[in-house]
Amino acid sequence: MKCQYRATLLVAVMLAGCTDDIGVSTRTGAPSANPLLQDWDTPFGVPPFDRIESDHYLPAIRVGMAEQKDEIAAIIANPDEPTFANTIEALESSGRTYAKVRNAFGAVNSAHSDDITKETAKIIAPESSAHRDDIRLNASLFERIKQVYDGRGDLDLDAQQRRLLEETYKTFLRSGINLDGASQVRLRDINAERATLTTAFRENLLNETNDFELLVTDRADLGDLPVSLVALAAEEAERRGHECECWAFTLQRPSINPFLQYSPNRELRKKMYDGYAMRGDNDNDADNKETLSRIVQLRAERAALMGFRNHAEFVLTERMAERPELVYELLDRIWAPALRVAKEERAARQEMMDADGIDGALQGWDWRYYTEKVRKAEYDFDDEELRPYFEVNAVRDGVFELANRLFGLRFERRTDIPRWHPDQQVFEVSEADGSHIAILYMDFFARESKRGGAWMNALRTQSKLGGDVTPIVTNNFNFPAPTAESPSLLSLGEASILFHEFGHALHGMLSDVTYRSLAGTGTSRDFVEFPSQVMENWISEPEVLRLFARHYQTGEVIPEDTIEKITASRTFNQGFATVEYMAASYLDMAFHTRDSSEAVDPRAFEDAAMADIGLLDEIIPRYRSTYFSHIFAGGYSAGYYSYLWSEVLDADAFQAFKETSLLDTDTAARYREHILSKGNTRPGMELYINFRGRPPLIEPLLERRGLN
Ligand SMILES: [Zn+2]
Repeated sequence: MKCQYRATLLVAVMLAGCTDDIGVSTRTGAPSANPLLQDWDTPFGVPPFDRIESDHYLPAIRVGMAEQKDEIAAIIANPDEPTFANTIEALESSGRTYAKVRNAFGAVNSAHSDDITKETAKIIAPESSAHRDDIRLNASLFERIKQVYDGRGDLDLDAQQRRLLEETYKTFLRSGINLDGASQVRLRDINAERATLTTAFRENLLNETNDFELLVTDRADLGDLPVSLVALAAEEAERRGHECECWAFTLQRPSINPFLQYSPNRELRKKMYDGYAMRGDNDNDADNKETLSRIVQLRAERAALMGFRNHAEFVLTERMAERPELVYELLDRIWAPALRVAKEERAARQEMMDADGIDGALQGWDWRYYTEKVRKAEYDFDDEELRPYFEVNAVRDGVFELANRLFGLRFERRTDIPRWHPDQQVFEVSEADGSHIAILYMDFFARESKRGGAWMNALRTQSKLGGDVTPIVTNNFNFPAPTAESPSLLSLGEASILFHEFGHALHGMLSDVTYRSLAGTGTSRDFVEFPSQVMENWISEPEVLRLFARHYQTGEVIPEDTIEKITASRTFNQGFATVEYMAASYLDMAFHTRDSSEAVDPRAFEDAAMADIGLLDEIIPRYRSTYFSHIFAGGYSAGYYSYLWSEVLDADAFQAFKETSLLDTDTAARYREHILSKGNTRPGMELYINFRGRPPLIEPLLERRGLN
């Protein structure tokens, strides 16, 4: 259901080794020949993707780091008294080359990696970590920052300047600047090792995902799988060199989910399900158990060094939730009703399976299959009926149209802008009066070079310090690719993901602040899913569906009775969806509220954590530990609950539109002003209250999920 938002941070340190076997470090000479280090003489200053080769990144990132080192040295060497401008703003302005090259690299390595970028990621992870520690553990630099901070009462700072000063100061404290020498040395080692482990976790997962294949040779085993996905599986088989009338299924979402929903072959469903659920847990070279256990240990050790009981407490002081108890309070409030509904759903699916003449208990690999049967029986509705109305470009146009009605934005396709893959679509985004706002890249289709999930990242963050810098953002998805027979047709769930990521993109594009480190999506993790999730509300509204959902062949607008079925089945299977998501949230919290830095056995730990909450055997957490990249290779550790936390905000915020009208431009203008434009210039709750006039209520969320 959800995406993953990722700041393109390349985390941390180890061997600054060379890797001549793939030639990564062979092109270190002559920066003049490296397009990353020349002026980006492209439309809107986008990265010159048409001229960048994979082996340009490593030397350019290193040049960027060296450049920033010099800039930091200059700040420290400044003979003048430290001031806000010569210290805080100077630090804020440093590392521009590093940031822009690193952002481009992070985006490409996530969405279109090759052996060279993967190797580069491994090398650069510890180097970036060391670089960051060199800055944040620099006592002379901090001395200047502290002087400015201590004298802040006498400075005539505006609200954003004050916020930047406070955030900068806090960042240094949280990075360990006040620890003694020996602790700092240990902290650096921890950071370096974490960075390397994180990179390994991500690579193992990509390898495990790509290695799996299920080859189906009997057409009957495909059941009612939609024609467009049958064609996709046939092309996949051909691409993989199978010369037979056969269909290849993979662990990528567009492949696995429909297979589990439609294949009547129980044995094959089990193979597919196990293949997915065991990724990183196969006791092979790509096993992630030891990796994640070590990550958990290191996080606990760091928290202890920093004076916190555990990692969650350390992380949450910077989040809206503030402390683990408040996270659990929200989770526990919703868990019981969700579990109750899931049990009712289980009974209905078991009944359907019994009626099918299958003996025994429903299993995990049966859930989705019988869910479709129940849906059909209860609502005379098949999720797949919708796909023809959700051709990917139509959905894209739908969200553009929505942004136009709400905010007056315009989107113009540009074909003159360099891309990292020919599938990418690039748009210039403008205000109603035609003034330029941003560049938006959209990369829709699954491929082996792309990691799983959906995400947004910024190639360039909005800022005004030293001149107007407009944002460049990307949206990335794993939707089914078009085939010779069919365009890319989305399910309602996939279409919602498009709206979700576009919400993150809006947050980045409509940012209107002075400092880049306070801009756009650089906000608290449990707030950042609010602007994305709120967009999902619109997609299933009849008024909005009529705007864009047209049959890709006939152009017919989605029929009213289909819209009625969508509305009627809105809370269908929400017990399952809520429970599988929340189980992963509890698992994340369990790993990160351990007060000890002893090693864990991930399998046993996960089993115990799931037994604790009474998870049903037929449901596994949305992410099991060994492929939980949100928390082991992304920024969501002790933070996977954020989607639910943000959902309280988004459900309540959407009520503001319902109270006026869904396309109310005044409410939209207030939403843009108080939320989308503000980045991290104020705490999330304060922004929310400015928009809504009061704190959020939880009732709209319970009602939406059918849990009230
Ligand atoms: Zn998101």
